[in-house]
Amino acid sequence: MKAEIISNAIAVSIFPNSCYNGARNNIEYLSFMNGKRIVALLAVILAVAGGGYFYRREILGSRLSAVQKAGSDPAVLSQATGTPQITTQVLSEIRHGDRSKKQVIFTFDGGAGIQSADAILAILAKHHVKGTFFLTGKMVLGHPDLVRRIAAAGHEIFNHTYDHKDLTKLTEADIKRELLDMDSALEKTVGSSTRPYFRTPYSAVNAKVLSAAGAIGYRSVEYTLDALDWREGRGETAAQVQKRVLSHVAPGVIYLMHLGDNITGEILDKLFSDIEARGYKIVSLTQGL
Ligand SMILES: [Zn+2]
Repeated sequence: MKAEIISNAIAVSIFPNSCYNGARNNIEYLSFMNGKRIVALLAVILAVAGGGYFYRREILGSRLSAVQKAGSDPAVLSQATGTPQITTQVLSEIRHGDRSKKQVIFTFDGGAGIQSADAILAILAKHHVKGTFFLTGKMVLGHPDLVRRIAAAGHEIFNHTYDHKDLTKLTEADIKRELLDMDSALEKTVGSSTRPYFRTPYSAVNAKVLSAAGAIGYRSVEYTLDALDWREGRGETAAQVQKRVLSHVAPGVIYLMHLGDNITGEILDKLFSDIEARGYKIVSLTQGL
């Protein structure tokens, strides 16, 4: 009974206008309590209030400042010209490389078409650039010869899941399955693993995705600028994509382009030449972090 009185009194002091109002009837019992009990009750109230204050100030505050930091990042803000992809789950994701060096990273995602694949490989070879590919397991199993050529040329291949699903809608077990199935597809095809990096389909990410992936050794790599080459079917032109890429050259930028459109193959040579002429190196993900 006394424990109930104390808990109701705490509830009233914390939620004075809430559904705990009925508990106020018990307050009158407090006048019968001796001094020690009142002191103990005050100590409990102070501890609860202090804990709440600490949570708001330290835990929420640090989350907020981390998000604000990401939001004020010029490289991230540069996405404003593309599709806004800023989420609050950015803390453990990689969104840019080393920003102290004049170098940029080109990444190529592949899950469906391969229209630009041959051109990309030829242009990487011409410029002596190590490329970075995020492929799906279905792509690897559907185009094993292409994937062997990518690996044989020394490019980096990472995990873009098996079937390009929205991972936020899957269970933790299924998220892991998507990553592990792609990893075994690559292992079977070229004998190497995709760890430790993966890229989420559709940039769809939340804490569950990051922790499920992290539990099996994967860290999310997003990008600084989406070139929007994938909008080819919606009327995006090569000139628009070229302008977008070249107007965002900055140390550490990670570009997102794709195998499955024609634009990337058409403009990549020009992009590399222009960026190199500005004194930048084009590097792979692991070279550029
Ligand atoms: Zn994708």
